[in-house]
Amino acid sequence: MTAAPPMLPTGGCIDMASGAKTTLPVIRERGQHEVFCGLTGIVWLHRKMQDAFFMVVGSRTCAHLVQSAAGVMIFAEPRFGTAILGERDLAGLADANDELDRCVKQLLDRRPDVKTLFLVGSCPSEVIKLDLHRAAERLNERFFPQVRILNYSGSGIETTFTQGEDMCLKSMVPHCPNGASDIAKPELLVVGTIADVVEDQFVRLFEQMGVGPVRFFPPRHARDLPPVGPGTRLLLAQPFVSETARALIARGATLLSAPYPFGVEGTTAWLAAAAAAFDVPAEQFRRVIAPAADRARKALERYVPRLSGKRLFMFPDSQLEIPLARFLHRELGMELIEVGTPYLDRMMVSAELALLPESVQLTEGQDVERQLDRCRDAQPDLTVCGLGLANPLEADGLRTKWSIELVFSPIHGFDQAGDLAELFARPLERAERLLV
Ligand code: SF4
Repeated sequence: MTAAPPMLPTGGCIDMASGAKTTLPVIRERGQHEVFCGLTGIVWLHRKMQDAFFMVVGSRTCAHLVQSAAGVMIFAEPRFGTAILGERDLAGLADANDELDRCVKQLLDRRPDVKTLFLVGSCPSEVIKLDLHRAAERLNERFFPQVRILNYSGSGIETTFTQGEDMCLKSMVPHCPNGASDIAKPELLVVGTIADVVEDQFVRLFEQMGVGPVRFFPPRHARDLPPVGPGTRLLLAQPFVSETARALIARGATLLSAPYPFGVEGTTAWLAAAAAAFDVPAEQFRRVIAPAADRARKALERYVPRLSGKRLFMFPDSQLEIPLARFLHRELGMELIEVGTPYLDRMMVSAELALLPESVQLTEGQDVERQLDRCRDAQPDLTVCGLGLANPLEADGLRTKWSIELVFSPIHGFDQAGDLAELFARPLERAERLLV
């Protein structure tokens, strides 16, 4: 149902994981899968980029998905909407391009605050082969420089859940200005959406270490695109931005391979990768991170007795599964039964794979009925899965955690480590309370 990620283009990759163990056995499944489409990413992307508007070119189903996932914005002007393809468009009786141009003009007349407009493709726009790339070019001629118009696909035919963000960021890469060409003068670019509050925490730590300049992608304003060039060092905050990372590498950037910043261990290793690239002395690094790392360790202590030894089964959904499994196993003592991921892209997770126990069963892709059978046979204490699978599994007496919550909540960094553990402890505690 979905396209495989492309091959790694030429460019650099520094692997910070020593002796990376990347040969864990993987079950590859290519059957029916249950996961949201890439339109879901609009929910967090529109909050992050405050001058951007996301116009889905799709059906009423697409409109319902985005609206119900994002909630109704009663007091604020929303920064997403759907240009609905009606029956006449779908039947080819109306010129969908004319209709689209009319919708875009209407929107931009009403919303002069919009500086970047994303035309987001969907299953219906793909089925009728509406060329949104050409539409964006045509509309750019008309509206640039007042607004920059970009396009990407969030269709369920091409993307799963978190891949929508990857497609969105990738569409911005060609518009990033040329960055520092001096390879000896590095600049750090953190890639993948993180909550503003977490971004501010990381900025403070980088400043204290002497790492900089630091930019974030996506930026808070879509107009404020970061420069990219041979001096750019990429530090990935999300494991699902693989195509964006490859596009940035193709522009000359170098990837710093590291575990993702979840929990004390992941956050320390992630920051250490940046510190090493900027020649921060080890003593200075330790001194800067010590207070926050100690706070995080303390916050996690109370969850260890609650989660240690509990058996975990993760369905493939958000692509956060492998880093989170590493955190839950190594810092909270959970036992990993099966860890699924929609894609296993070794460039993105080699440092994580090196930290997983050899006993873990990894799966890539999904054949949902077979995976449900394995889950029911295993009777895990906790199952992480999409919304659609949670109710049937709860009805079978299993405890579940919705993976979508993990994408919507601030979970990166030291100060969020306790909250991250709490997300997994809560369903188990609720179950225990119901039993007494
Ligand atoms: Fe459904 Fe496709 Fe629209 Fe997503 S893009 S809501 S999968 S029709």
